[in-house]
Amino acid sequence: MKCPYCDSEMKLGTINASNLLSWTPDGESASGVTRWAKSPNAVVLAKWYGLIDASVEAFYCEECKKIIIDVPEKESKKKSI
Ligand SMILES: [Zn+2]
Repeated sequence: MKCPYCDSEMKLGTINASNLLSWTPDGESASGVTRWAKSPNAVVLAKWYGLIDASVEAFYCEECKKIIIDVPEKESKKKSI
């Protein structure tokens, strides 16, 4: 994948978390006391299943120091309903 900012080839890798990995809109915060708590408008990038850590593929540009993550298909569909 080419970086949309500088057109360099981006490096594929993964981002891991030991619990829910999500993007939360500015001004919102995860409510609740569990490790799976998220705000209503959060975009879930990866979920933690049992012994398997949450993991999502991400492209990294070394030039721009930017990371691009695709939101998993099933989560974006769920949002549109
Ligand atoms: Zn770049």
